[in-house]
Amino acid sequence: MKLGLIEKYRSRLPVTPATPIVTLGEGGTPLIPADKLAAIAGLPKGSLFLKIEGANPTGSFKDRGMTLAISKALEDKARGVLCASTGNTAASAAAYAARAGLPCVVFLPKGNVAAGKLAQSLMYGARIVEVRGNFDEALATALAAAKSSGYTVVNSSNPWRIEGQKTGAFEIIEQLGAPPAFQFMPVGNAGNITAYWRGYRESGKTRPRMMGFQAAGAAPLVLGRAVLKPKTIATAIRIGNPVSREGALAARDESGGLIDKVTDAEIIAAYRMLARLEGVFCEPSSAAGVAGLLKLSRARFPLKGRIVCILTGHGLKDPETPLKFKYKRKTVTAGSRVTL
Ligand SMILES: *Cc1c(COP(=O)(O)O)cnc(C)c1O
Repeated sequence: MKLGLIEKYRSRLPVTPATPIVTLGEGGTPLIPADKLAAIAGLPKGSLFLKIEGANPTGSFKDRGMTLAISKALEDKARGVLCASTGNTAASAAAYAARAGLPCVVFLPKGNVAAGKLAQSLMYGARIVEVRGNFDEALATALAAAKSSGYTVVNSSNPWRIEGQKTGAFEIIEQLGAPPAFQFMPVGNAGNITAYWRGYRESGKTRPRMMGFQAAGAAPLVLGRAVLKPKTIATAIRIGNPVSREGALAARDESGGLIDKVTDAEIIAAYRMLARLEGVFCEPSSAAGVAGLLKLSRARFPLKGRIVCILTGHGLKDPETPLKFKYKRKTVTAGSRVTL
């Protein structure tokens, strides 16, 4: 039987014997080499790795934080849980709340949630509130609703989310035998980069340089100011005013890393390359870190040592984006001779 990450890392997480553990067997995701991608980035064979977070129970890394946030909500006798979400937090909250027997309300930016994520929230039985507005506006609406409701907010402002997510760093260190030299990842609300940095800091002296990438149309941390109307095809990082801004900037500065931006065209190129060259289908947002790696390698940025890219969510979350591209395909009559 696969243990969830709370049991695996119990001594390093804020749980007590009284905490009821709500788990779907999250964590323990694959770390796989990506040698073809390494060659394209001018890196030596065996130096580039992908952390497949789409292999979590609801298909994204959000499950790492949610197992702890929902366990704690249950321990604290919450009436229910709520969140605002571009889709993956909602899917994860809805699943873990269902398992815990807690009511769940999700606030979604209407028209900007990938189909698979919406399907998940519906199936897990969450109450859905579609907000006419972007994610940041949905979050403000959710926080106002949460006030004096007895519902626990499970956005990444919830401290247990970050605690659970730091286990990604523990796993990578175990899988490589040591921390990598660089970690590339997408940055939206910036909870994940904050969490990984905490995990690496708690694990020892050598730490990766943290390389975060925002979408060019939603890059508040690069611009140094909030973006009122964030725009990008990568809906999971379509965020104009990141909640964990300070954590992300600390991760960047303390690690000697950077936070930069990549265009939608660069994200899509990396997204397609991952699928075709490595057999890894992630969602568009997840490809932002790889797009950043390719951008830096083109600019001859000095990269040495082992590099990990976090692929945050599964490609099937978003079945619509791939259908926008042109493919060669043909239709034949059944039984006709097809030459290959
Ligand atoms: C939530 C999410 C992100 C962004 O993570 P933050 O912690 O908000 O920076 C990136 N990719 C996917 C697939 C996500 O679900």
